[in-house]
Amino acid sequence: MTQLEARDATVDELLRAHTVEHVEGIRDACEAATANDSLVALDYDTTVSPASWAAALGSVGAALSATEAVLAGTVRNAFAACRPPGHHATRDRAMGFCLFNNVAVAARALLASPQVRRVLIVDWDVHHGNGTQDIFYQDPDVFFLSLHQSGHYPGTGSPDESGVGLGAGTTLNVPLPAGTAAEVYRRRFTEALARATSSFSPDFIVVSAGFDVMAGDPLGGQRLEPADLYAMTVELSQLAQRFCGGRLAVCLEGGYEVQRLGQGVVAVLRALAGIEMSDGRLSS
Ligand SMILES: [Zn+2]
Repeated sequence: MTQLEARDATVDELLRAHTVEHVEGIRDACEAATANDSLVALDYDTTVSPASWAAALGSVGAALSATEAVLAGTVRNAFAACRPPGHHATRDRAMGFCLFNNVAVAARALLASPQVRRVLIVDWDVHHGNGTQDIFYQDPDVFFLSLHQSGHYPGTGSPDESGVGLGAGTTLNVPLPAGTAAEVYRRRFTEALARATSSFSPDFIVVSAGFDVMAGDPLGGQRLEPADLYAMTVELSQLAQRFCGGRLAVCLEGGYEVQRLGQGVVAVLRALAGIEMSDGRLSS
């Protein structure tokens, strides 16, 4: 395993997925927090501190560094430890702890490279990735697949939200009720991947990996264990092998029970590295 230092994102890179007003608004809020040495609330659960501007640029930069390293062939695949998370940030709005949309900026950067024409984003966070959906809703070059807990924050992500205009058919939402059995979840995951790739052939796969989908998370209600995430990551690796030379970058989204988050991330890392689960539970 190779540990890479992430670079910072530039403002120009942010503007590939966000409006000027949004980027300036976040910068102004962070400057106000710095000037007053205080916290500034953007909405009821999204707050910035004097350190947030640097953290946000570093978080997007981690997703960019990960995808760049994979594209360059420096590493076979990558995991980016992004925080703050990104998938709720829309083109023009911060929400749900997210300031900028890490995976969306990374996907747009990939599409600016001549090697990549189509990107598949797979979002298994327990919450719907409304921001990522918003940014690519009309974009035929990015397929957005989200599995999330039905009726949960932020309330979007119904199956009839499937894209518009040129992007019609390149959004796939799979809401699952709280408490869905892991084997049912896994089956739906496999079916959704098959459906997404039946009409869309990606040159790169980016994952919004939310570990709040694991059993015991205080902000979720699903039942996945590290072994499930291990198996799902193996499945994505195989899909990436089939379609795009193994190009796969996994980016951290939610996950609010620290011990479980750690266990889940280790399982995903082991799957990416092609080694067995440490506790003897192998993928099925
Ligand atoms: Zn989440």
